[in-house]
Amino acid sequence: MNAETAVLCAPQRALDALIEFANDGMCGRCLPCPLATKQAIVTIERIIAGQGDEADLARLARVAAELVDAARCPKGEEAARALGESLRGSTEFERHVDGVCPEGTCRALTRFRIDPEKCTMCGACAEVCPRDAIEGDPYVPYLGDNHPYTIRELRCDGCGACVDVCEAGAIARVT
Ligand code: SF4
Ligand code: SF4
Ligand code: SF4
Repeated sequence: MNAETAVLCAPQRALDALIEFANDGMCGRCLPCPLATKQAIVTIERIIAGQGDEADLARLARVAAELVDAARCPKGEEAARALGESLRGSTEFERHVDGVCPEGTCRALTRFRIDPEKCTMCGACAEVCPRDAIEGDPYVPYLGDNHPYTIRELRCDGCGACVDVCEAGAIARVT
């Protein structure tokens, strides 16, 4: 799993578009536009970080409507239209608030599991894990109680480094 090559989820696409608008389009001439844009960015960042709730969804819908009213130029109108379409176009924002990133691109909402049937107990995943989130010991043939590899969810930040090194394909995303 590589976040750079993955398809971005709807909240991340909306965030990218808003940040691009804020950095390279928004002039700030009409005050409601930058205020609504900033609030939308902060709210989506909360949702992506796994801290969003129903109130954030309601706030985002309200801010999107405010942005439509505030827009006084084609760039502003386009930003407002894109955000509104993103919100209406899928259930992904709701899914994120429920703790699931359907595309697996939000690290805070991504969890992995090691399939013991596929795991060869090589230890490569534990070696690359930057969070020291994988427990287990390499396989020793004469031991009857080999310590299988498992992921400690609370430590894992969903970076996907373990998936990339597992030649057995034993690590899968859990949604
Ligand atoms: S709506 Fe257009 S004119 Fe108004 S602040 Fe935004 S970018 Fe500027
Ligand atoms: S890299 Fe894959 S096969 Fe090796 S210990 Fe980790 S999960 Fe098991
Ligand atoms: S996803 Fe990243 S942090 Fe989580 S167990 Fe794998 S390597 Fe460690």
